[in-house]
Amino acid sequence: MQRAEGRSSLVAPLQKVVGGFFAVFFPSDCRLCETPLVTLSRLPVCPECLDSLERIRFPQCVLCGERLVAAQLLVGDGQCHACRDYPPEFERAVSYGEYAAGLRDLVHLLKYDGLLPAGGPLGELLAQSIADLRLPLDDASLLIVPVPLHSSKRRERRFNQSELIARAAMRHLPAGFELAPHVLVRHRETHSQVGLDREARIQNMRGAFRVIDAERIAGRTVIVVDDVMTTGTTVSECARVLKRAGAATVFAATVARTLKAPVTQDCGNSLQGEQVEALELASV
Ligand SMILES: [Zn+2]
Ligand SMILES: [Zn+2]
Repeated sequence: MQRAEGRSSLVAPLQKVVGGFFAVFFPSDCRLCETPLVTLSRLPVCPECLDSLERIRFPQCVLCGERLVAAQLLVGDGQCHACRDYPPEFERAVSYGEYAAGLRDLVHLLKYDGLLPAGGPLGELLAQSIADLRLPLDDASLLIVPVPLHSSKRRERRFNQSELIARAAMRHLPAGFELAPHVLVRHRETHSQVGLDREARIQNMRGAFRVIDAERIAGRTVIVVDDVMTTGTTVSECARVLKRAGAATVFAATVARTLKAPVTQDCGNSLQGEQVEALELASV
């Protein structure tokens, strides 16, 4: 007992020395806030930045999670204009946080810098947003389906960020969820969505996905997952083809979501800076 304690009391300072050694000789700053990191980690992001990733804390559309402006709160059905004009194909969409600040930076680290360990914390956040759906686990038939990339895009990026995040989320979800990354394929590349109104975006997405394993989804509750949701047309199109192929109900969950600026009164088609940027960086 004493010997074990003695050993661990030696190991801890040794780790500190070795960690400090690397921090000195291979200095690295937090990729989000640029504070020098004191320990080596596969993910060069400081704990403070990871702890500061905030949930969405204002009134949201009950269907798609868009921010509701004051005028919409008075209408009473809790839906945004877009959902009322073009009802989404999914039952409900949830997101952990706003696609801004640290959360956006963390998504970028994964997606554009190829820093795969960023998938870990993002998966944990995705699991928390899936929990918000409060789906009953009794029938044990909840399928998690990541939004697929077109094969050429996947080759170029070498990984599908949605699948990577979904795999990480599985470690935080209770039994009863099943990952099904190969039931849906993206067989058509989609054009940039920038500048398109909602109707055009829906048309642009139409026919981009195909179910290749209908047996797997027949009668099941499916949760389509993605890293970022902008207008929801991508996950809505996934929901449409999944339902047509036999899924009973389809929900959507993403790590982050672009939100209209709080001052926006026009809830129709105008895009705010964040959304334009998100569309430019399209999650495809
Ligand atoms: Zn930091
Ligand atoms: Zn909505």
